[in-house]
This record gives sequence, C-alpha cells and structure tokens, in this order.
Amino acid sequence: MEGSLIIIFGPPGAGKGTQAERLVERFGLVHLSTGDMLRAEVARGSEIGRQVQQVMEAGELVSDELISKLVADNLTRANGARGMILDGYPRTVDQARYLDVVAADRNLLVIAIEADEQEIQRRLGGRRFCSGCGKIYNVRLAPPAAPETCDACGADLVQRSDDSEEVVAERLKVYREQTRPIADFYAARGNYYVVDGNRSVEEVFSALERIVESVAA
Ligand code: AMP
Repeated sequence: MEGSLIIIFGPPGAGKGTQAERLVERFGLVHLSTGDMLRAEVARGSEIGRQVQQVMEAGELVSDELISKLVADNLTRANGARGMILDGYPRTVDQARYLDVVAADRNLLVIAIEADEQEIQRRLGGRRFCSGCGKIYNVRLAPPAAPETCDACGADLVQRSDDSEEVVAERLKVYREQTRPIADFYAARGNYYVVDGNRSVEEVFSALERIVESVAA
C-alpha cells in the first residue's frame, strides 16, 4: 500500500465518496476529495470559496488551474502517508496529465465505478450529508436512525445544493463530455479496473476490496 495512489473515478452518484470512506477505513489510507476541499473553502468563506461557489452550484467544473493547485498542496501535505485515495480528481484529461507530473513517485491504481443515469438520479435525490462531520446518508437507501440527524455526531443532515434534479442533469452532461474521456487515457495503461456501481454498497465495496488487495496491498 505504501506509495500507492488510488483514483476513484466515475459519474456523480456512482458512490465514489461512500466507497472511498470505506476503503480509507479498511486500508488506513489518506482520503483526498476535491469536492470536500472545495465545499470546505465555500463554508469558510475564503477567497477560493467565493471564486468557486457559483460554478459548483451550477454543476460546472472549476478551472483546472485552481483545482490542480489545491490537489498539489494537499498531496505535498499528505506526503509520507501509507497510501492515498483521490476522489473527484482528475476530472479532465489535462488534470490527469498534471497528476502524472505531481504524483510521479506514486503507483497509480485507477478504479472506474460505472452506474446508470436512472440509478444516479435516484441516489442523488435522496442524498444528505452531515453538517457536522460530513458523513453521507441516503433518506431512502441508508437513512439515519432519527430523521435528518447524524448517527455519528448528532448534527443536522443537509442536502447539497448541487443535488437538485436540474443541476444533476448538468453534472452528468459535464461528466460525459469532459470527464469520461479520462477512461481511455487510463485504460491504455495498466492498473485500470472497472466496477459495476449499480449494485449495493456492500457488493461494490467487496469488488473494490478485492482489487485493492490484489494490486496495492
Ligand atoms: P464532487 O463532490 O466530487 O461531486 O464535486 C462537487 C463539485 O466540485 C463539482 O461539481 C465541481 O464543480 C467541483 N469539483 C470537484 N472536483 C473537481 C475537479 N477535479 N475539477 C473541477 N471541478 C471540480
């Protein structure tokens, strides 16, 4: 696992964040999520947060330059860690090329989680996250014990502003046009795996666990 960089790639709602959290727990990895980093900047009201808020709410991608700098800073800070998992980055072929440069000393393992658009709409419509600790729930598929309340820390659950039906449709379009071509970029090299993300969280996790164990452990 040492020196590994696992990239979880796929459309919004495929389960990247949920599965990344599970892999972090199972293998003791450092989790880097560009969406979480950006949401933290927005919540803090920082200069970066002000720049990206509208773009995120519209379901568009923030600039390669801004996001790549954020990733490079976080990779440097996490350096020396056993292994890392990157979720939500790269999202364009240019970002993938940049990652090759800044993570040249790491062994890349790329796992694509695929999911049907109908299933994605169903999942994202019910998705909530904890305003305190960030834990992810689904009001239909994985509800908390008490309505709208986090099991782990008791804070209120909220919906992401970009999980509305229209914004999800835009995010899927952006995925098809700008992010999906990355699959070809990585598939042409080794260490690229595709997992069917339409199944339950447990089934998808077992598939991911087997891949990580066989390749990176
Ligand atoms: P996520 O939580 O991964 O769905 O990301 C939420 C939003 O953050 C995306 O819809 C984009 O607006 C922005 N974002 C996250 N990662 C990236 C990235 N690698 N490149 C550009 N924009 C990103």
